[in-house]
Amino acid sequence: MSFAELGLAHTLLAAISDQGYTEPTEIQAKAIPVILSGCDVTACAQTGTGKTAGFALPILQRLIPSANTSASPAKHPVRALILTPTRELAAQVYESFLLYGKNLPLRCTVVYGGVNIGPQQQILKDGVEILVATPGRLLDLVEQKNIHLGQVETLVLDEADRMLDMGFLPDIRKILSLLPSGRQSLLFSATFNDEITKLSNTLLNHPLRIEIAPRSATADLIEQSAWLVSSENKQNLLIALISKLNLQQVLIFAKTRQGANRLEGRLNRAHLPTQIIHGDKTQQARMEALELFKKGQSRILVATDIAARGLDIQELPCVINYELPSSAEDYVHRIGRTGRAGASGLAISLVAPEEAKLLDEIEKLIKRKIDKHNPDEILNTTMFETEKNLPRTGKRSEPEQDIKNPYLGKNYPAYMTCSDFQTDLEIPWLLQAQHSKVPEMKRTISTSVSTFRTSTKANNEIAALLRKPVKPYQTEQSNSSELIPG
Ligand code: AMP
Repeated sequence: MSFAELGLAHTLLAAISDQGYTEPTEIQAKAIPVILSGCDVTACAQTGTGKTAGFALPILQRLIPSANTSASPAKHPVRALILTPTRELAAQVYESFLLYGKNLPLRCTVVYGGVNIGPQQQILKDGVEILVATPGRLLDLVEQKNIHLGQVETLVLDEADRMLDMGFLPDIRKILSLLPSGRQSLLFSATFNDEITKLSNTLLNHPLRIEIAPRSATADLIEQSAWLVSSENKQNLLIALISKLNLQQVLIFAKTRQGANRLEGRLNRAHLPTQIIHGDKTQQARMEALELFKKGQSRILVATDIAARGLDIQELPCVINYELPSSAEDYVHRIGRTGRAGASGLAISLVAPEEAKLLDEIEKLIKRKIDKHNPDEILNTTMFETEKNLPRTGKRSEPEQDIKNPYLGKNYPAYMTCSDFQTDLEIPWLLQAQHSKVPEMKRTISTSVSTFRTSTKANNEIAALLRKPVKPYQTEQSNSSELIPG
């Protein structure tokens, strides 16, 4: 099946080909002809299946007869309205419309809260055919008479289940009352429960129902694993996993905003550049963090479930659940950020004993067992192959070869290795580094651990940090005492 066989216009086919899409995904093959025919549709499909193009392409095609280059705002009424639960998803859907509609003189914009309303008002004043919006900001604009929805021909409720979860039902009802009754309505939802069915019955007119295999059943491309670990040990395990598995881009989910903040701080302290998005952050900060991560300028993005749906980051190789979500369905959404559009992915969950029941529920939902691992596999293994060759006498010789410090990503002499990775991970490095003759490492010391310069003070501080004694000993190169974890 090709896109051309779906009856799409040449202008759209050219834009699709520019995106490198060679054939429609399952949801696209099923939804595009039906939406083109003008029917109402309910579709059970998740983000990552290509559903955005599944509705954007036929909407654009149906608007081609209305496309015009007139400067008059009256010639550009809102004809397609797409509602999404989150700002990030709204921005993403908007970008998709821009990409697919780039060869058409149709105007498109996005409105969401958390940013200045002024520029949005100005764009709406000039007129747009396609409007992507979150419900709250849309209603603000309606109340301020910046927008008229009486000519909407197609309405899309994207991620309808999420909108209901987020309490948007009253807003949605208000918006529906502003739309013409003869419109086409499309409802996309990852799950269909009674509430969604009720909404679709009141919203849609004899809809055609489209279902595609749920990701939970097709997630074979995602390698899933669970690490059974105490809550206290999660941070250390996380850092060790990122380093040992050499994860270059990771989306980490935390359960709460405070937890996410703590994690961000900890990862940054461990020299792992981390961005963060959650509901307490300004929209500006959220967009910037996402942008840096998407561009690969930040290795790690820590997020609460606000990011679990809708985010489309090209070829995201790994998702880590630092804490399991309270609903098993959210697990599927979270790990759906990886293994997208046919690519393989890695989904790692850190599971504390108190989360065992949640893991059971997830396994029931996805109808398969997740591989379990013991953190000792990572935490107790020697991080450096060269370490076994190091003198264990308490005296260290000059380095014979350089090795890579997986935490700092630089090469340091072998004698600086330390095997105690169950404790605070930076400390052993910096500790050993005090007596280094390597200028780079000296810089690290002077900027990061100047308080550890005096041996006795260092001894006490490090002992407190490691919660165990450290033993001083004489080095060949130095008269001062050197500390290694005892
Ligand atoms: P969505 O489910 O709409 O968020 O899309 C997920 C990802 O799939 C996006 O990165 C799209 O660019 C990509 N995509 C959509 N349709 C296709 C297609 N037919 N072939 C390849 N990739 C696609």
